Amino acid sequence: MASVSEILNKVELSKADVIRLLSITEASEQEALLKKAYSVKEKTIGRNVYLRGLIEFSNCCRKNCLYCGIRSGNAKVTRYTLTDKEILKVVEFAFNNRFTGIVLQSGEQNNPDFTKRIKGLITGIKEATNPEFRITLSLGEQSFDTYKAWFDAGAQRYLLRIETSNEELYKRIHPDNELHLFKARLQSLEDIQKIGYQTGTGVMIGLPFQTIEDLANDLWFIKQRNIDMVGMGPYLEHAGTPLFRYKDSLLPLTERLNLSLRMIAVLRILMPYINIASTTALQTIVPMGREQGLMAGANVIMPNLTPGKYRGYYLLYDNKPCIDEEADECLDCLANRIKMVGEEIMYNDYGDSRHYKNRKHAADQ
Ligand code: SAH
Ligand code: SF4
Repeated sequence: MASVSEILNKVELSKADVIRLLSITEASEQEALLKKAYSVKEKTIGRNVYLRGLIEFSNCCRKNCLYCGIRSGNAKVTRYTLTDKEILKVVEFAFNNRFTGIVLQSGEQNNPDFTKRIKGLITGIKEATNPEFRITLSLGEQSFDTYKAWFDAGAQRYLLRIETSNEELYKRIHPDNELHLFKARLQSLEDIQKIGYQTGTGVMIGLPFQTIEDLANDLWFIKQRNIDMVGMGPYLEHAGTPLFRYKDSLLPLTERLNLSLRMIAVLRILMPYINIASTTALQTIVPMGREQGLMAGANVIMPNLTPGKYRGYYLLYDNKPCIDEEADECLDCLANRIKMVGEEIMYNDYGDSRHYKNRKHAADQ
């Protein structure tokens, strides 16, 4: 079998190489992998970080995913929805703090009123900022027409994690009913891409029953589908969910963190020009988790701008950080930490996925 250093010198990685890299246990090998990924990022993107302001505007959800703390079946959750006025206030804060875009995320709501509301919000956000201001949506599965209406209203990016590319595993972590079909998730992702969004997906890492081969297949899935942006992070248990009962079978947290860093690093090597987010879930395991993600090849951070009073109710998993802070306190410490690892926040650049631009350019030829 090839050694890690031999693999890292290859021009193209095979599936076996990816499995070998994800299986690293030696600290020196992990360091070599991360260093290689960082050198790829330096060449394609530079030591630059793009910020997107995350607004978790509602925890109302029609779905009941077996891993998620705000699943509809969790009766202990206090449900909330921000008003348009509250959302626009956050947008204004982001705009004034030199953010070039925001991410609107919520539980999955799927009805004509919701479609209309989001359409109106997109228009309102453009009016409050400028037409170029980037709006990313992360609102789950919707119909083709709904995705299209939001795109036409001005949203440029959509995040829909596939969660796992293994259909069998997908079935084990979701209820067995029409609302939670793997095929529907896949169809949505295809619709999003077809409509012309910068398309984002991702997976959870360290799920119960998940193998290293599954994770290698996830990276293959992302590459084969020509994805522009990826957000992936460790699966973290939540006591109010059915999957919690498997908590003793999971990888220890530090190993889940290291595996997540290796996933980011291998993905950066496989797809040098995409945007990769360093997620809050990494920061949940260690305070500098997101900065470690940057050092492994990620280039996007999504600071949480949700008003403090709602943060304690958007708990997808236990021990979520910064839930008792207001956005501006978090921003100062984040900027310092990013500087500390030798990276720079890009305030004057929309930070569109270079992969997307290349993909569009090739299609236009
Ligand atoms: N409802 C939308 C967006 C909000 S959930 C959707 O599902 O697409 C956003 C992401 O949070 C999910 O895609 C999932 O990958 C992640 N998530 C949910 N529960 C989690 C957990 N217990 N650990 C880690 N990530 C989780
Ligand atoms: Fe709802 Fe998204 Fe959580 Fe599933 S992961 S229960 S769709 S918020």
